[in-house]
Amino acid sequence: MTQSRSFLTRWRVVSLALMVLVGFAFTQWRAAITRNRTIPDEPFRIAGNLYYVGHTGVTAFLLTSPEGHILIDGGYPRHGPLIMESISKLGFDIGDVRILLNSHAHSDHAGSLRDLQQASGAELWVSRGDSAVMADGGRGDKALGPARFAWYLGGLRFPAPRIDRILEDGDTIQVGSARAVAHVTPGHTRGCTSWEIPLEEGDLELRAVSICSLTLFPFVSLTSGAYPEVGTDFEASFQRLRSIPADIFLASHTSWADLHRKNRARQEGGDSIAPFIDPEGYRAFIDRAERTYLDRFSSH
Ligand SMILES: [Zn+2]
Repeated sequence: MTQSRSFLTRWRVVSLALMVLVGFAFTQWRAAITRNRTIPDEPFRIAGNLYYVGHTGVTAFLLTSPEGHILIDGGYPRHGPLIMESISKLGFDIGDVRILLNSHAHSDHAGSLRDLQQASGAELWVSRGDSAVMADGGRGDKALGPARFAWYLGGLRFPAPRIDRILEDGDTIQVGSARAVAHVTPGHTRGCTSWEIPLEEGDLELRAVSICSLTLFPFVSLTSGAYPEVGTDFEASFQRLRSIPADIFLASHTSWADLHRKNRARQEGGDSIAPFIDPEGYRAFIDRAERTYLDRFSSH
């Protein structure tokens, strides 16, 4: 009797200690994720009236005009103050942002849209395909396949912003002389939007294109039925992006387009635009993504 009671007490102590350990590990894990997601980047001008104002290698682009600005993407949920700081470091005012746009409704690109919307009073325009997931703060994203249940753990969640307008493929969004053309390139998400931005740099007329994403998550099965059009969506998106003659290659992550290296090369090269002119890098990125997609698809 005494023995079994002391066994029970020991068991309780051990399970309590285990629970404390698991709780501690979880808190540390969340703190590490937050730290890794809030590494500030320096803002810089890309070309013409287009500026990088993102952080932690997640892009956000400010497109300026005397009549007001367009801001594309809102980074992670804690990036709001960092993006606003970058905007003011460049000499602009968040209050002059008239329209907020988004590449896609994932927590690393839509995370601070609500904060930025509240700070600026800007309208948020979202593609039809991503509007439901955006309005739900990331919940129920079918393109994530079975991993969408991870939303409940918090990692994929973001504060749901107010959607002011639904945009369609091919729409031109304009504030004064700031212009961006929407190319809906679905697959990564249903409404994944790549942005074509016409720019003037001195006498040059340039076209920047920011690729939304061409990543197919490893846990999404093309035949699972969770998002049945994912295969045809990806194939159409590769072709669509190839049809845009991009001079300046941008993307929703800086590393994809090597933006920090290009910016350093620009500083070292007497502010020449040359390092940012990269149509080959743009096409090579699409080709690589397509090969990865086809390899995966043919192995099924
Ligand atoms: Zn994404």
